[in-house]
Amino acid sequence: MVLEKLGNSLKETLSKIAKSMFVDEKLINELIKDIQRALLQADVNVKLVFDLTSKIKDRIKKEDSIKGLTKKEQLINIVYEELVNFLGKEAYKIELKEKPFKIMLVGLFGSGKTTTTGKLAKFFTKRGHKVALVGLDIHRPAAMEQIEQIASQAKVPVFLNKVEKDPVKIWRQYKDEYKKYDVLIIDTAGRDALSKDLIKEIETINKEIQPNENLLVISADIGQAAQKQAQQFHDSCHVTGVIATKMDGTAKAGGALSACAVTQAPIKFIGVGEKIDDLEQFNPSGFVGRLLGMGDLEALLEKAKEAITEEEAEDLGKRLLKGDFTLIDLYEQMEAMSKMGPLSKVMEMIPGFGQIKMPKEALQVQEGKLKQWKIIMQSMTKEELEDPDEVIDSSRIDRIAKGSGISAATVRELIKQYRQSKKMIKMMKGSGDINKMMKKFQGKLPKGMGM
Ligand code: GDP
Ligand code: MG
Repeated sequence: MVLEKLGNSLKETLSKIAKSMFVDEKLINELIKDIQRALLQADVNVKLVFDLTSKIKDRIKKEDSIKGLTKKEQLINIVYEELVNFLGKEAYKIELKEKPFKIMLVGLFGSGKTTTTGKLAKFFTKRGHKVALVGLDIHRPAAMEQIEQIASQAKVPVFLNKVEKDPVKIWRQYKDEYKKYDVLIIDTAGRDALSKDLIKEIETINKEIQPNENLLVISADIGQAAQKQAQQFHDSCHVTGVIATKMDGTAKAGGALSACAVTQAPIKFIGVGEKIDDLEQFNPSGFVGRLLGMGDLEALLEKAKEAITEEEAEDLGKRLLKGDFTLIDLYEQMEAMSKMGPLSKVMEMIPGFGQIKMPKEALQVQEGKLKQWKIIMQSMTKEELEDPDEVIDSSRIDRIAKGSGISAATVRELIKQYRQSKKMIKMMKGSGDINKMMKKFQGKLPKGMGM
């Protein structure tokens, strides 16, 4: 998998969000740091990294919550969307508007041009087009033999000349043949660096052939240096797009991709291996989706949805203090706790309650019990739910037990739990010294019960 390491660290970061209890400043700062670290390790340019993360931060701050999305889902979404934008946003499709449609490959020595002619031939053949290669690399020894071999692998014809030293002449030699094909893929010679000599050669061929696409082939292992190369080629040879090769073999691919994305030359394909099928059309959203693991991303969003939101917790805390504490409140509170763990988190949100340390075992609710309570509560009337203390007597308890199919003892247990919680909340409200009160109460907390 391309950029596996980057993908893994980003996945880890996002799952940290999904697992965390609240979206707060601390979590956001941690998230930003994690993303920065992951991208820098993938050789992404420092400035680009900071631009990206400050964009993410801005959006998190500015954007109102979106209906149907929790704060955490929204956060994961923002990271995903910004990573897609970062890599160019749009997927460029090559439309074959003309026959023959001429695609010329340019680039430095060893960047993967000749290999890519074969990959592109296979790509378009598979889509039902008639393809031929044209070999115009007159510099590299054995270049003609190499493209011959590649053409036979791709099962397409190749036009070349093993003795001619002028690429324009080779091109003209087969002019009458070209109209039989839908797509012509033209291989050219490279140099060690972008030299005047190379620019001139590309310009001359350009003028003669007038390709529909002039694609720059860049090896991704040069990392962020790809930006300079893409820009230089774009400025001097009018490239229409980039093919980033060797994405499979380098941890620096993130640098190459992001660097090219900021030039005027969009990435159109990526090479992901040495074999003829190892070519992909570049699509930023698909790429990021795979990088983060689309299935994983969905699972993360699911997980983010489950846990309680900051607002919900705050709301719950306030309601507890207001005092109209009903059985439904008790249930909701138990349910929330079973999802999010410590009630102490809820307490932290209430001014003055932050310093209270609750015993851990007191805050755990057993899942099975919670289910029974729910069933019991479904057999209660509205009146009973809202004010159990006033209205529930033993005859009602028997009725509820029968109706719910759960033992009267369990119903009693629920009522008892409710009474104790309510009492404690009253005490909390009445007490000036919360810490002292908590100490007094810690010994009295019923097993399996918080508050
Ligand atoms: P050219 O000089 O630009 O024509 O480059 P070549 O096509 O001759 O390729 C140079 C080397 O890079 C060859 O050994 C290729 O097998 C290798 N190569 C090209 N594309 C890829 C790729 O996407 N992944 C990997 N791993 N190797 C590649
Ligand atoms: Mg070559």
